[in-house]
Amino acid sequence: MDPFEVLQAGLAERASQALTRRRRIADSPCAPRIRIDGRDVVAFASNDYLGLANHPALIDAIAQGARRYGAGSGGSHLLGGHSRAHVLLEDVLAEYAGGFARDPRALSFSTGYMANLAILTALGERGATLYSDALNHASLIDGARLSRARVRVYPHADAAALSAMLEEDRGGGVKIIVTDAVFSMDGDIAPLAELAALAKRHQAWLVVDDAHGFGVQGDDGAGTVAALGLRSPLLVYMGTLGKAAGVAGAFVVAESTVIEWLIQRARTYIFTTAAAPALAHAAAASVGLMRGPEGRARRARLRERIDTVRTMIGRIATDHPEPSSTAPSAAALPLASLSGTAIQPIVVGENETALSVADALLDHGFWIPAVRPPTVPAGTARLRLSLSAAHEAGDLERLAHAMASVFHAASYPRDIRPASR
Ligand SMILES: *Cc1c(COP(=O)(O)O)cnc(C)c1O
Repeated sequence: MDPFEVLQAGLAERASQALTRRRRIADSPCAPRIRIDGRDVVAFASNDYLGLANHPALIDAIAQGARRYGAGSGGSHLLGGHSRAHVLLEDVLAEYAGGFARDPRALSFSTGYMANLAILTALGERGATLYSDALNHASLIDGARLSRARVRVYPHADAAALSAMLEEDRGGGVKIIVTDAVFSMDGDIAPLAELAALAKRHQAWLVVDDAHGFGVQGDDGAGTVAALGLRSPLLVYMGTLGKAAGVAGAFVVAESTVIEWLIQRARTYIFTTAAAPALAHAAAASVGLMRGPEGRARRARLRERIDTVRTMIGRIATDHPEPSSTAPSAAALPLASLSGTAIQPIVVGENETALSVADALLDHGFWIPAVRPPTVPAGTARLRLSLSAAHEAGDLERLAHAMASVFHAASYPRDIRPASR
């Protein structure tokens, strides 16, 4: 068969299932008000939870870092690319996020995706078993696949089911429990205290991906593990620097023995060019902001925005009680899925529905991305509304009006015209 025909058939198949993904082009920095695909909108789309991505101090820090260290690292960490800037960042991260460990050490990575591959492939050698939450991020799924470990998937956030699996496997080889801390498409939080207890009982590693908690959770923003006050030498903590921290990159904090193992063994650490030192320099500046009074104030603002959105969505749904079967409107604004974090999923079910609601909101000037499989399970397509401390209270009020009108269009979803895309 003509290999192009194979691809074209695959693309057509995806299109027929409303699964085609497209990229919108931003002509402005990441902020609540952005210019996207040529129109000005209020965006609820980024992971810039503290509104630091366009912070003047971090823009200055990148420039200063570039003047001091140059534009690029020039090599891998083991072959000349390891800069003083990376070392300083790692020191500050170990101190900030390493409170759970006896002898914490940090290792910086160019992305969270690479950090997760590093952890799971280096710890998950042949003979090991990996226990993975069913809703883990794609990078953890790929890390599990790339490891030589046997992989067992436990039902989402179900510590009892995980416990049963661990009992079944008693006496086996190395065990690794792996979970998102704040789930990226649902915003709920893993039962980390229970997982830590299971890890201790079974002497398993507990790998926690805190991409959406680092900088946000806890009084000082040190992340979900710190917020819960967990302490365990078995914890392997991954945080990212491109979300709340507003820059780019990622890191692992763990006992220094674990970090040494990653340096020796993790192929996605060893065989890749080190991130630009200027980015590490800016990330260290971001940590300074996040743990100080400015970070604290921004977390308080984010908390207010989260509370407002939860109340607002609740009010829209209850103002328009259960609709008749001919006007299935309010049913499309489910409350059950709301979370206590900056990530608010509005699960609508079908892919087409998610796209048409997102397009209708865009016509009102609000960008809330539709998320479809395989990012989320089939039949749970949703709008992923994400909040930032940089959103204004007025943004949320106007969003409430737009959502009320979109979700209560008389014969939703049919009346929402499928916008051109
Ligand atoms: C974004 C994300 C990652 C990947 O981090 P990058 O730095 O963007 O590569 C990993 N895990 C989770 C849960 C994420 O949301």
